[in-house]
Amino acid sequence: MKAWFTTYLQLDKDIESNFYRKKVTSKFILLLSFIILSTLMIGNFIYSNTAIFYVNLCLFITMSVILFLPGKLRKYASHIVLHFMGLGVLLVVYFNHGREYTPIWYFLYIFLVMSLYGHKVGLRISLAFLTILLIELFSFTSSTVTMMEFVRFTMVACFTLFFAYLAEMLISRTFEKLITAKSQLEKLTKTDALTGLFNRRHFDEVLPQQMSRANRSHELLALAIIDIDHFKSYNDTFGHPAGDVALVALANLLKVQMKRGNDAVFRLGGEEFALLYQAKNEQSALILIEDIRVAVESLQQYCELEKKITISAGLLLIDSQQNISVESAYELADKLLYQAKNSGRNKVVISK
Ligand code: GH3
Ligand code: MG
Ligand code: MG
Repeated sequence: MKAWFTTYLQLDKDIESNFYRKKVTSKFILLLSFIILSTLMIGNFIYSNTAIFYVNLCLFITMSVILFLPGKLRKYASHIVLHFMGLGVLLVVYFNHGREYTPIWYFLYIFLVMSLYGHKVGLRISLAFLTILLIELFSFTSSTVTMMEFVRFTMVACFTLFFAYLAEMLISRTFEKLITAKSQLEKLTKTDALTGLFNRRHFDEVLPQQMSRANRSHELLALAIIDIDHFKSYNDTFGHPAGDVALVALANLLKVQMKRGNDAVFRLGGEEFALLYQAKNEQSALILIEDIRVAVESLQQYCELEKKITISAGLLLIDSQQNISVESAYELADKLLYQAKNSGRNKVVISK
């Protein structure tokens, strides 16, 4: 039972946005109305209230149909069902002349409205509903309801409304904070602090995804590993902070060059970067890296570099016919980089 309840209300799902709560509330409304209608139907059948029993039966059948509607329609239906519940409360109070604690159901409607519509819209709907209910109840003060009862009810109803509004406002604020913190944390775990590029951890996640996507769509995927030449001596000569400036300058250049939808730039660590992008063919893949290599040579003209820097790159092209594993893709690209280093640096070596 508990497991069914958890699955039905989707309590086991991850909280992704504030809509999650509305979804849970919608489902709760449908379940609640189903239970209320079943109880009323059985009750009226036992007490032989034939007319009311048939009304309940019709509503029960409608409700059962709603429960089997597809997701989106069911969501809209839950709004209608909720307002029917509100109307039901007003009607029951009217027919019972406010006796037998019938107005007490108002609180359920208010809390559900707040949760489904949020505190701002929820307050307006609840206020309208409560005003009608109080006018209705006031009309019975000359007969079935004493003035004292009416005043007491009004006070409690106002406090309930205020508290429902406050609780909803606090919950939605907490949700917003939680969701913002979650997305910030997700961003932090995949970002390199110095350059703002994606980090190694994210590279390890993205590489297999991009490889299988490229494989499925028969596209050519390019993986380039880039490393700054003689960067140790740059650091030793000009100091670590100057080295950092150069790393950031290079990162910014890579960001500017790699701006198409599926392009991704990573700082793998130290002065080593990776580029992952879709290419039309071998030539276009190479041109992009060559352009970057040439742009790095003149980076000093645009940024405050102490000295000209150069990069070497290994460029691996992965097409769907090759059966390259994720691990070997990185290794192969790294080997190409070392060939570039060994053949004099400031070079791009592409896979054959
Ligand atoms: P090669 O051309 O063979 O790549 O030579 P290299 O000197 O660039 O390579 P090496 O691996 O010997 O040195 C890498 C240097 O990168 C060492 C370190 O001083 C520097 N480095 C690594 N991470 C950072 C960083 O976050 N900031 C700065 N400023 N320097 C870094
Ligand atoms: Mg280096
Ligand atoms: Mg290195």
